[in-house]
Amino acid sequence: MKKRILLLAGGQSGEHEVSLMSARSVLAALPRDQFDVTPVVISKQGRWLPPTGTQRALETGEAAGGGDLVLHRVASAEGYDAVFPLLHGPMGEDGTIQGLLTLAGIPFVGSGVLGSAVSMDKVMTKQVLASAGIAQVEWRLALRREWRDHPEGVTARAAELGFPLFVKPANLGSSVGISKVSHARDLQAALDLAFSLDRRVILEAMTSHKPREVEVGILGNDAPMASPVGELSFDSEFYDYETKYTEGRAQMHIPARMPREMSERVREMALHAFRALDCAGLARVDFFYVEETGELFLNEVNTMPGFTTTSMYPKLFEAAGIGYSELVTRLVTLALEER
Ligand code: ATP
Ligand code: MG
Ligand code: MG
Ligand code: MG
Repeated sequence: MKKRILLLAGGQSGEHEVSLMSARSVLAALPRDQFDVTPVVISKQGRWLPPTGTQRALETGEAAGGGDLVLHRVASAEGYDAVFPLLHGPMGEDGTIQGLLTLAGIPFVGSGVLGSAVSMDKVMTKQVLASAGIAQVEWRLALRREWRDHPEGVTARAAELGFPLFVKPANLGSSVGISKVSHARDLQAALDLAFSLDRRVILEAMTSHKPREVEVGILGNDAPMASPVGELSFDSEFYDYETKYTEGRAQMHIPARMPREMSERVREMALHAFRALDCAGLARVDFFYVEETGELFLNEVNTMPGFTTTSMYPKLFEAAGIGYSELVTRLVTLALEER
């Protein structure tokens, strides 16, 4: 019997468009002799678009029109064998949808409530990984209310880290809302931007030199495997939204150009982090490698990484001999696996 799969895409975060791109690829790749796939696009307003609206959104990227609240539809999504929540950012990658699906008793691809929520929040991730002994850059947390009522306390925390530093919404992705701040005078604008997108903001020290950026894919549940290590190179100041999604701005190198012992360390650390965060199914773990000093810092863990056929995560597994169709099939199988 074919498995009935519900593929959720779009969603309410700043990564809505990225999710639609990923969904087109996954939709085309799930083998139809094994799966009966129903795509549903969630609008930016959190509406569950009907089939015509979903079709239009997938074709044009324009997710317009009304529909029921996601809350009501997820709860009544029985009849599906599994859900593929191909959603990035808040209300998708952060444990919220995962909680509804858990309540509804429907298996789904990827991490559960705990792993999703903790990995989405960069501060919580850093705290858990610090206790697991994983090297990370120095950081500070700031809350929106502190920035409103006691801005001097927040700027003092930034000063402790020194410039340049990075200001990021704690719960987002695709570099949305992230600034590299080189001078104290630019701090206010960066904080205003980040706080317009999140209640929690993380300030991060920059590595001593511009880091090499390496990423590794993890696949599996309680006995996960690590892909080869990949590397991204680009000319821009940092790996911002434009660099990520403008054709030709960034180059992917698989395997990463680093000594073998170093890439083994990256893979070990990524597996260790995946377990420490109680992730499941898949994750892409991002690192900074400072070639000049040989230091390796874990940057973040993405529990639903970009998933177009040219995205890093599928490319890493392709290099390991697992093609795109096989990869999405394995992910659904992992969702259905008893643990
Ligand atoms: P993703 O799309 O991978 O989910 P994200 O929005 O969660 O990304 P980060 O990976 O935390 O954001 O940061 C985006 C980019 O900003 C990094 O790839 C890197 O280029 C730069 N960056 C972030 N933090 C630092 C840091 N502490 N030191 C140096 N560069 C940094
Ligand atoms: Mg991220
Ligand atoms: Mg992400
Ligand atoms: Mg990243």
